Formats: sequence, C-alpha cells, structure tokens
Amino acid sequence: MPDICSAPLPLRSVRVTDPFWSREMDLIRTAVIPYQWDALNDRIPDAEKSWWAHNMRAAALAVRTKKNGKEYSPVQQNCGFTIYPEEGEAPRDDSFYGFVFQDSDGYKWLEAAAYQLALKPDAELQKQAQEAIDLIRAAQEEDGYLNTYYTVTGRERAFTNLKDHHELYCFGHLTEAAVAWKQATGKDDLLDVARRFGRCVTEKFGPGRERGCPGHEIAEMALYRLYEETGEAEWKELAQRFLDVRGTDPSTFALEENKRLKKAGKKEMPVTAARYMYYQAHKPVRAMDEAVGHAVRQMYLASGMADEARLTGDADMKAACERLWRSTVNEKMYVTGGVGGTHVGEAFSRPYDLPSDTAYSETCAAIGLAFFARRMLQLEPKAEYADVMERALYNTVLSGMALDGKSFFYVNPLEVDPAACDTDERLRHVKPVRQKWFGCACCPPNIARILSSLGQYIATQTENTLYIHLFVGSEITAKLNGAEITLKIDANLMNSGHAEVTVLSGQAEGTLALRLPGWAIGGSVTAQGKAARGENGYILLTGRWQPGDQITADFPMPVQAVAASPLVRETSGQVCFVRGPLVFCAEEADNGRNLHLLRACPEKAGEARVGSKEIDGLTLPVLTVPGKRVTVPENAPLYAPWSQPQTVETKITLVPYFAWNNRGKGEMRVWLERE
Ligand SMILES: [Zn+2]
Repeated sequence: MPDICSAPLPLRSVRVTDPFWSREMDLIRTAVIPYQWDALNDRIPDAEKSWWAHNMRAAALAVRTKKNGKEYSPVQQNCGFTIYPEEGEAPRDDSFYGFVFQDSDGYKWLEAAAYQLALKPDAELQKQAQEAIDLIRAAQEEDGYLNTYYTVTGRERAFTNLKDHHELYCFGHLTEAAVAWKQATGKDDLLDVARRFGRCVTEKFGPGRERGCPGHEIAEMALYRLYEETGEAEWKELAQRFLDVRGTDPSTFALEENKRLKKAGKKEMPVTAARYMYYQAHKPVRAMDEAVGHAVRQMYLASGMADEARLTGDADMKAACERLWRSTVNEKMYVTGGVGGTHVGEAFSRPYDLPSDTAYSETCAAIGLAFFARRMLQLEPKAEYADVMERALYNTVLSGMALDGKSFFYVNPLEVDPAACDTDERLRHVKPVRQKWFGCACCPPNIARILSSLGQYIATQTENTLYIHLFVGSEITAKLNGAEITLKIDANLMNSGHAEVTVLSGQAEGTLALRLPGWAIGGSVTAQGKAARGENGYILLTGRWQPGDQITADFPMPVQAVAASPLVRETSGQVCFVRGPLVFCAEEADNGRNLHLLRACPEKAGEARVGSKEIDGLTLPVLTVPGKRVTVPENAPLYAPWSQPQTVETKITLVPYFAWNNRGKGEMRVWLERE
C-alpha cells in the first residue's frame, strides 16, 4: 500500500460524543434498530411487509428437506422480480415472498447491530442478532450456497441471472455484515457463513472459472473488506475477477440473457458490452470516465474500484476513480450531496440535468457517495473528498430518516408539492411524507449501518499521521508511530465552526492533520509549538504530542447564498442558502403555501439572522432571510400583458434540509426564485 494511503480506525477506537450526532446514533440504537427488527419479522402494523425472516425460515425448510434425502419440489417456479401471495390467500410457510434481493435487508440490519454492539453492550440486541444469524445459518445449503429466493423457488436456476437477480449483491451484504460482526464481537460464526458462500461463488466465477460479475455491485468492496480482515488472498482475487470481467466483450449479461432467449425459442441478441450502461458494464472499469446508470450501483462500484487502487497501487484504476469522481461531483451531484437525477432507472442523468421536483436522489445513493468519498480519502487525503462526504452525510443521508427515527424517505427531491405528488404521474416516485417501511426497503437499514459506523468516517490514519476529516465531537484513540494517544474533538457544526482537539492521554511523535472545510472562507487553525504546513486542504501539525496539547480551529460559518452552474437549466435564476455543511430549505409550515412565489435576494445573505427552532424535540438552527412574496391578484387570468409583479416584503424562514417534513405534510423548496 502506498505511504499516503490511510485506514479507518478500529470500531471501538472512535466514540462519538457530538451533541447532534451522538443523539442520531443513540436513536439508531434505541429506536431504529429495534423497529427494523420488528419490520424484518413483519410485526409493524400498517407497514409493507419485509418477508425477511419468513424467507429465511422457508429456505431453512427446503434445506432440511434436502438434507433428509427427500426430494424438494418448490411450490413456486415464479421467475419474477417480486412474488406475493395471491389476493385473499394466506402466505405459505414454504414459499418465498417479496423482492428477489430481500435477504440483503437483514444483512444490513445485522451490520448496523454489530457496529452498535461494538460501541455499547446490549444483551437484547445481541440476542436478536444471534437469532438472525441462526436463521441465516439454517438457510445455508450444504455446498455453502445462500440465497432464499433460489433455495425456495428452484436452486437449479441459481447464478443464471446475475444481471437482475441480485444473488451476488446479497452475498456482498452478507460479507459486509460478517466482517462487522467479527470486528464487533470477535465471533467467527457469520464470517464462516460468508466464507462458505464465498467459496461456492469462487467455484463458479473465480479466477479461471466461468466469467461473471454482479448486476448490482457491492460484492467488490465487501470482498476487499473480507480480504483486509482475514488476510486471505482468495477474496481479493475474486473481487479483482469481478472488476476485470465487468464491461468486457462478450458481455456476460448478454450471454446469460441469450441462454434464456434460446430456451424460449426466441432470437438471441448481440453480445456487446456497450448495451449495459445502466449496470456500469458497458466498458472495462479502467476505461470508465462518466458516472452512469443506476446511481447506487455506480457509487458501490466506484467504491470497490477505489479499494482495488489502494490495495494494489493500480494507477489506471486510480485514474478511472478520479474521472468518476469528477463526473459525479462536478456535473451530476445535487447541492444536498444527493445523486441520481432521474427516477427512470433510479439513475444518473446527463451532465447538469438536476431537476428539483422529479429528482430521484435515493438515500442509498448518497450513502454510496459517502462510501466512495471515504475510500478516495483513504487512497489520497484531499479535503475535497471529505467536503463531499460531509455534504452527503449532513443533508441527504440524514433527510432519509425522520427525526424520531420511525419513518424514511427513499427519494429525496429538492422541491415538493404534496398536491402534485398525489395527482401527477411524473411524480409517482416522490412521497411527500416519510414512509414507515417499503416493500423495497434498501434505504432504512442502509441509514442504520452508515450512522452506526460514523466513527469510520471521522478520521483515518497512516503510520505517522492521523487525519481528522469530519469535525464531529468524539474521542479517538490512535497510534502514531507505534505510540498510543487518545484525543478529544469538541465540535458542534449545528451551531458554530469552532472546534478544539485536545490530547487526553498518551505521548506520541507524529502528525495530526485537520481538514480545512471547503465552506470555511478564511479561518484559522492554531497549535502551540507544532510545525504547521498545508497540503491538499489539510493543515498538518507535526511534533511531539502530550496530554493537554490543544489545537484550536476557528472556521467562520456565515450564511452563504449559492447558485448552481449556469449550465443547470432547472435552477437557472434560483438561489439556495447554506451555512457550514448544512443546506437549508423553505417549508410551508413557516412560509405558507406556494413557495414558488417567494423571492430571495442573494446579496442580502449577510443580513440573514441565525436563530433556532425546536422541531420534534430537537433544537435546530434556523435562518431568517429578507425576501419578498409575489402577490396574486384576485381572479388573475392565466395570461395577461406583462407588468412588474407586485410583491410584499417578507421574512423567509429556512430550516435544515434534513429536518424537512417533521411537522406534517406540506410544500418544501431548497432552490428559491431570485429577487
Ligand atoms: Zn435505497
């Protein structure tokens, strides 16, 4: 690994104490994880069913039947993407229900539970997690294969539709959970399940075997993680095989489709990879230069590519990661750190196509962007990566969950009119209120796992340098040149850009590197008696550190008016307001209906008042900016000769974007028309 590459700290080495984020993490532990356990077990009234535990039991039944030497004849041979009981029919114990990738929801839940258990013992949670692992183990077949959909509906069809049926995606999530569980508890039980399935996958698609790669990526980054945890080279080699096969001719996706077409007596299709842009399988990974297709998949793939570049020093892979990064953040990212401009395929759109109201901006895609950013930071510490990671975390990742942790957004638009959502087919994907659960519930457990592992994003380290990427209040124990020190970060970006880093115990020689946030215009970082130099947006402070040593950072956090590039058609003539890492929005609850009639004046951002407001028991920053409201004459005709619109002075109240829709159903707008 090159010298500049850094690694996150062990799970227990970072304890989040931040007044805002520790509450979020507690909420995940006390409300979200128990709620999701009930959801996985279909115990939430009036919510869509998960079928997770049901499917695990159904698969275990099939496995037991086969073990007893009996013929297992599945009751369903439905090859569909989803299976539900017939109207009025009771679910059968031996049938699979829900989406084909349902297994992954439980794996994500387990991963989040593991992170929480690493930070705080919890007998009840430990028991539930063990129950989940027992269910999973029982569902694993003799040869290691583990996928409830195929085990229940017909194992002979396994690995015949990698493009759409998410077997390797579920394998990836299983692996992520297994490594987290091992790191949190020291237990090998789930890791052994993942290894056994991994060997079954390797047998089929490993080096020198049949060509194949995941239709929905994540196995790549999960396998690198398994390799780093165990030191077993086979997992790195399997990940490399997936990356190398992807996007090459003949396309493995076309080949498997052709098998199905041939069986059905239909005409086969050309086997060129170029057709598979949606799956990021349209060209070899090292040649990729634009973020395309399904946004979550693209972010997960880029994360795996960044792992490969870091672990092998592959310069072509690193260059491809940098091109994908630039394409994403310079042309295709919302101001809220969301990605995926179009709901058609939950996908990246063309450059600069960033509509506010029809946006997809899936919560999982922002989480994927944070994964990618953290891995780019590990590859090379540059503050721009941390800026984007912070933007995604503080805005779209957080907005995915209600302040009480009990409901979730899948889609995170920047403009919502509930009346339009109810009636307009083009907005069918936009929910004006958070939902209790989803039939396709990828986002809620993904939020739980990233927030539970926030410590992995705050800092990374090399042998002699500890990088502090996020100013999140926490206590960190790290080794600098082999000597252990513990330091405390005092910060609360909800209120101010003032942060202090204090050495609590231990003595060590080395460098503490603090990020200079992109949003801070000016500001200072001081540490008595340490040599300082700036590099890639970090201030590097080198010397001998001992208890009581302190670094003080003062970053001004003025309210700023932000415009999008003039090439973004959708926000032409509009402005939004940010403060520090937070993007703000106007809500009907404060500003009345028809938010499009508000006129904001970017030049008056300096006159904005920063106050606070209690929303759902949480005190949050609120901005009041001077503005105007266009008045609508009574009986105004649809068209009339042009005249200067009549306006009245008004104060526009803005709340953090992540906190919108916690006060009932109403309009919301991030981008306001300019005065
Ligand atoms: Zn999702």
